[in-house]
This record gives sequence, structure tokens and C-alpha cells, in this order.
Amino acid sequence: MVSSIYFQTLSLFYMLLLTIVFFSKKRIKSIENTFFVTLIFTNLIGLGLDIASTYLAYVNVNNPLLNPLCKLYLIYLIFVCLIFTAYVLFVSTVDPKLEFEKQRNKVRKLLIIIIPLFVILSIIVFCIPLYNVSENGIIYTKGPGADLNFIVVGICAVIWIISLICNYKTIINKKYLPIFSLIICVITAGLLQNVKPELLIVTSMCCYVVYIMFFTIENPDMKLINELNIAKEQAVKANNSKSEFLSSMSHEIRTPLNAIVGFSQILLEKENLPEDSKEEVSDIVMASQTLLEIVNGILDISKIEANKLEIISNEYSTHKILDDLVALTKARMGEKPLEFRTKFDPALPEYLFGDASRVKQVILNLLTNSVKYTKEGYIEFKVDTILKNDICRLIISVEDSGIGIKPEQINKLFRKFERLNESGNTSIEGTGLGLAITKKLVELMNGKIFVQSIFGKGSKFTVVLDQKIIYKAKETTTTNNNSNISESLNVKDKKVLVVDDNNLNLKVAEKLLTSYGLQVETINNGFSLIDKMKAGEVYDLILLDDMMPKMSGTETLKNLRQLPTFSIPTVALTANAIEGMREKYLSEGFDEYLAKPIEKTELNRIIAKYLSK
Ligand code: ADP
Repeated sequence: MVSSIYFQTLSLFYMLLLTIVFFSKKRIKSIENTFFVTLIFTNLIGLGLDIASTYLAYVNVNNPLLNPLCKLYLIYLIFVCLIFTAYVLFVSTVDPKLEFEKQRNKVRKLLIIIIPLFVILSIIVFCIPLYNVSENGIIYTKGPGADLNFIVVGICAVIWIISLICNYKTIINKKYLPIFSLIICVITAGLLQNVKPELLIVTSMCCYVVYIMFFTIENPDMKLINELNIAKEQAVKANNSKSEFLSSMSHEIRTPLNAIVGFSQILLEKENLPEDSKEEVSDIVMASQTLLEIVNGILDISKIEANKLEIISNEYSTHKILDDLVALTKARMGEKPLEFRTKFDPALPEYLFGDASRVKQVILNLLTNSVKYTKEGYIEFKVDTILKNDICRLIISVEDSGIGIKPEQINKLFRKFERLNESGNTSIEGTGLGLAITKKLVELMNGKIFVQSIFGKGSKFTVVLDQKIIYKAKETTTTNNNSNISESLNVKDKKVLVVDDNNLNLKVAEKLLTSYGLQVETINNGFSLIDKMKAGEVYDLILLDDMMPKMSGTETLKNLRQLPTFSIPTVALTANAIEGMREKYLSEGFDEYLAKPIEKTELNRIIAKYLSK
């Protein structure tokens, strides 16, 4: 009956439709895709053969073309099975994240077996006898050719199942589970065809398999999304390892930098230093400080990019921050003929809730830039407020009469490592990281930053930030402004112990501390420290490096805290100067935190806190 080819004709129609849709879409170059395209074309040919042989059988079962057509049809079935086997073996064993070239090599190895096998099987099928019997337009193919075909399909099905069972974990991960249902379809069709040959559904089932594959795993859109996800995953991984590399590198750089900054500072303070050497040493101090800024900047930007920089909010005193910023800016202005104006809104709350150190960093970057890029004239630091319920909107602006920025360069301003007007900037130190970090920090705090500038006249940077207001009674005693505490501290007979595995660092710390008149002892590991404490030795302060081999500073302190008599204030000394480290070390039981290279003002503060009489 010709009606029995309606099924195949309909399948042919759908296959053609699928072919058009598939090829009209943008596809990515992948091995699976090549398999899929092969399956599409093979099925189109198979449908053609199926329709032609069924029709011929209906018209005249003795037509001499019928036998070769049926043999070709059997060869088509063998081909589909082998290609599908290669496909299943490929997706279940090859990692999709592997480079395209490596994937292609693996497929080549598979094809080296499959193609010769196909050629041999095709020749055998073509040569051995095959009998066609037609009843009502249904061709019953019998004989050794048909039996061989049946055996090949059976072996292939066993391979698919074994391969899926062996790789079930990766297959679930790769969402290739639909293949499992497809295999069941193919086997069911094969069996049905044997039980009820008049159904003639094998070819249509193969097409159906291709259809399901299109809508589940081989859809070009899904493939693109998968590829994008894999690429994204790889990019995130690469970025994370870059950040880790940068943070460990900056740690490594900080340690020798500690020696350079420390020794050059000590040298600079020597009274008998010749005048010309003084200038050179002060250049070393400046250069090493710039290097330190670069290291800190790289550390910050890599943390921001790896989404590891957290905004840690706490209550803070606005006046303390503003005082610090003014003092720091004045120090940076040095001898420059600049007028520094400040205008702070009297309504500015005394206490706010936010990340004080990041707010300070943002404003300090803007103020430092103003000092750097203004030769003469003024710098105006203004803080306005809008108060609404318990939120204070800070409108912070830094205006200068400096070199200004060309309008066409404004949009490059916040890109990392971008320095504008290079020719006019050569004498000004900078990395081009400051504003990139500033912008990211402002955004992390849900704020906004704006720039207005006239080239040659000046610039104005404005930051808008919302902070929560903390209402509490004004404290009568103000906190110490420690930055001005100097060596005049009375600490003569106090004993300090420094623990660090790096001899250079010990030397720097010793020199710095003895300049205060302190008695300094040094040891290079935590075990000796524990022994000393057990022996009952007494110190007024311990500076304990964290990153030491065998036993870290943190572990050492943990052991010390278990000694009932231990109560000496202990300061974490570390080159791990990432933001948030202070909180980490304080939570681990340290009394204070001192970053390497040791900053004189910080050391002053700690000495004043623990050792000053
Ligand atoms: P750096 O100052 O380290 O070069 P920044 O990211 O802080 O890097 O600034 C990027 C560039 O923006 C600077 O190189 C400078 O050309 C320009 N710039 C920043 N602030 C000002 C300013 N106040 N006046 C003029 N130009 C500025």
C-alpha cells in the first residue's frame, strides 16, 4: 500500500524543515555539530531510499532496482548506527571544555576505526544475498544481508548502553541525558520493526531521534549558550588565578619593600647625613612609597575585579575622617603655592555608618590628584549634606585650579592604567589606577561620581554617597590624633620583642624601634617565642609576623593564649595588607595590626597606645 509511505513522506517534510531551520541559524564550530549535520544528511538520504524502495515494491516487486535499493537502505542503517555510536562515545568520554583541536584529534582516532568498519560492512552487505518479498507494498527483507544488519544494530545498541552506564556521572553533568531516551527510541523501533514489519517506522524513528536532538542538545542556540557559559567559567577561573597571583606577588614585593622603606627612613633621620646624600635618600623614600602605592593599587583592583572586595560597614566619626584627610592633604601639598580651602556643612552628622576606610580612600584619591595636577592656585574640599530620615546623603567635591582635562579624554578617566595628557604629566608620578579604583569603590558603596573640567583651568570631582546616620550623644573626649606623636614619647626602659622569619625585616623593625629609645630583642620563629613566655620572660609589647614557616603568627598566638600567665599586648605584623585584614587579625586575638612596610605614623600610634607612660 502506498499509504504506508505517508509516514516517511511526512518525516521527509519535517526533516527538510529542520534542515532549513538548522542551517539558517548561526552555529558554532564544534565536533558534535559536525556529527549532527552528518546525521541530518544521512537521514534525508535514508528517507529517500525508504520511500523509493517502498514505492517500487508496491509497483513491481520484481523490479531489478529494488534489490540494490534495499541493500543501500541497509547500508544507510549501518551508517546511522555507526555514526551515532561515534557520537555517543564522543560526548560520553570527551570533556567539552577541551580545546577544539584536541577534540578533533580524539574524533579522528574514533573515525579511524569506524570508517574502515563501515566500508567492510557495506561491501559484505552488498555482496551477500538479500531477498525481498513484498506483501501489500510492504517489503520483507530476508536473508544473510538482513541478519547482518540486525547484528550490527544490536552490537551498536549494546555499546551505547555500556558507554552511557560507564560515564553516567559525566553524562548527567553535561546534561546529555536526552541521549539515553533517544537510545531507547532507536532500540524500540528496531524491535518493533522485527515484530511488526508492516509498520515501517525505523527511518522515521531515526529522524525523530534527530528531531529530539535538535530541540534538546544540538540546538545551535543552546550550543552557543553552553559555549558562552564554558567561556565565562574559564574567564572567571583565569581572572581568579590572576588575582591570586597578583595578591601573592604583592605580598612578595612588600617584604623587600619593607626593608627599603624602613632603612631609607632611618637613614633620612640621621643627623650626620651629608646634604647631597639626604636628597638621594629622600628620593629613595619617595620612589619606594610610589612603588608601595602601585602594589596596593594592583591589589585593590584585582580584588575588586574578582568580586572579593567587601564593603565593611561600621560606625565612624565623620570629623575624625575629615581631620585626617585635611592633615594628609596639607602634608602632600608641602611647599606648593596652593591655597587649601575646606567647606564642611555644619549639619554633617558626627557619626555615620559605612565603610570609613573606603570613604577615606575615595576622597584621598581625589585630593591627592588635585595636589598632583595643580601647580598653583587653590584646592577646595567641600562636603554638603542632604538629610532624610536616618540617611545622610554626602555630596563631596574636590575642586582645583589645575591642568584640567580635555573633553575628549573625560571618558577615559576611569579606565585602569589610563593616564591622560601624558606629555604634560611626565614629571608627575602616577599609575592610572587611582580613579579606576575610586569609581569602583564608589559604585560598590552604591554611590556616584561626576567630573567637570575645563582644560587648562581646573577640574571638579563630585562623589555622592548615602550613609546611615548614627545618633548618639557627643563624646566629650576626642580621640588622640596620633599622627603627630613623635619620638618624644617617653618609652626609654620599655622592652619590645619582634618575631619574624625574615632577617632583613627584623633589622628594619629593630632600627625603627631603637630610634624611640626602646630595648628591642628579635627572634625568628614562634617556637622560641613560646619557650621565652614559658620561661617567664617579660616584655611590654610583642610584634609578631604572621607568615612564618612551620608555625604562623596566628597559630603561635593561639598557643600563647593557652598559657595562663600570658597577657602581653601582641601586634600582628604582616605584609598581607589587604583591606579587611585588620578585622581578621583582631578577631584572631591580636591586640593590634601593623602592615609592612611599617608606616611611621602607625608605629607611633601603637607605641603611644601600649608603651607611653
Ligand atoms: P594617576 O594619577 O595615578 O595617573 P588616576 O587614575 O588617579 O591615575 O588618574 C588618571 C588620569 O586622570 C591622570 O593621569 C590625570 O591625567 C587625570 N587626572 C586625574 N585627576 C586630575 C585632576 N584633578 N586634574 C587633572 N587631571 C587629572
